[in-house]
Amino acid sequence: MRIGDLFVRGAPVFSFEFFPPRTEAGEQALLRTIANLRHLQPSFVSVTYGAGGSTREKTIDIVTRVKREYGIEAMAHLTCVGHDRDEITAILQRLQRCGIENVLPLRGDPPQGETVFVRPANGFGYAAELVRFIRDGGYPFCLAGAGYPEGHQECRDLARDIEHLRQKVAAGVDFVITQLFYDNADYFAFVERARRVGIAVPLVPGIMPITNLAQIERIARLCGARIPAALHERLEAVGGDAAAVQAIGIEYATRQCRELLTGGAPGIHFYTLNQSPATAAILADLRR
Ligand SMILES: Cc1cc2nc3c(=O)[nH]c(=O)nc-3n(C[C@H](O)[C@H](O)[C@H](O)COP(=O)(O)OP(=O)(O)OC[C@H]3O[C@@H](n4cnc5c(N)ncnc54)[C@H](O)[C@@H]3O)c2cc1C
Repeated sequence: MRIGDLFVRGAPVFSFEFFPPRTEAGEQALLRTIANLRHLQPSFVSVTYGAGGSTREKTIDIVTRVKREYGIEAMAHLTCVGHDRDEITAILQRLQRCGIENVLPLRGDPPQGETVFVRPANGFGYAAELVRFIRDGGYPFCLAGAGYPEGHQECRDLARDIEHLRQKVAAGVDFVITQLFYDNADYFAFVERARRVGIAVPLVPGIMPITNLAQIERIARLCGARIPAALHERLEAVGGDAAAVQAIGIEYATRQCRELLTGGAPGIHFYTLNQSPATAAILADLRR
């Protein structure tokens, strides 16, 4: 199924994102997590693409298994990092052979220790170029694209960043999933900017429930997301009490999701960090 077709039905599209584990034991644990979440009937599951190394192969393996063995629609992420056009072509052909119909083409981040993304030889410098390559190649994939409510780290000029998103969507993106954010005002302003420049595709908010303060501080720093001061203070106040942090995280994300859906968001993409309890609690509450 092409995920883009789900949005015209009107019901919220809920999806879960996972990353490929490094070890066999991790992979087994992930498959158990996915099995635990299956009863929540996500519209689709997406699996990230590693910065390099062995987990890259696993992205296709996992999306294929999720689709075939669990009967859940799946989307493979794919980045421009370290690939030339021939390698990208081989990956796209393999995805097609595996029956994958949905792909999230991304540029990817500069390798660790580097601040500037360098276009690989005979490769792509921006996600929009990869999107155009896929469309020009006549592949039948439904394509998603990444969007940034607070602006991408390398382009904090919000008007320029949204113009880049417009170009990416014009190249052939069917729907957008946003970077995680903790202030809904950033999402609603992003939607307004996008509509103003003529971006008409669904813009799905990406939500990462907080389960660990140190971890979320690190992730937010890496992807340039702001944790509102009031939320941060609440989390700090409970100190090292893991259960209390998780309870605040679930309560906050549930309220965030409810307000987003009421405000017109077409669904929620949950960044699960391969854990099921928080996402399961939030989604069960939203569906109540
Ligand atoms: C939903 C989601 C899923 C993700 N999944 C993964 C994953 O699986 N693996 C992974 O490694 N990373 C992933 N990322 C992170 C992503 O790779 C990084 O945020 C990366 O830095 C940008 O990727 P992009 O596809 O948004 O790039 P692009 O859309 O290419 O944008 C990158 C930067 O270039 C600027 N730009 C775009 N076009 C132009 C132009 N023509 N001229 C000048 N500047 C331009 C943009 O404003 C932006 O600052 C994900 C992010 C999101 C939001």
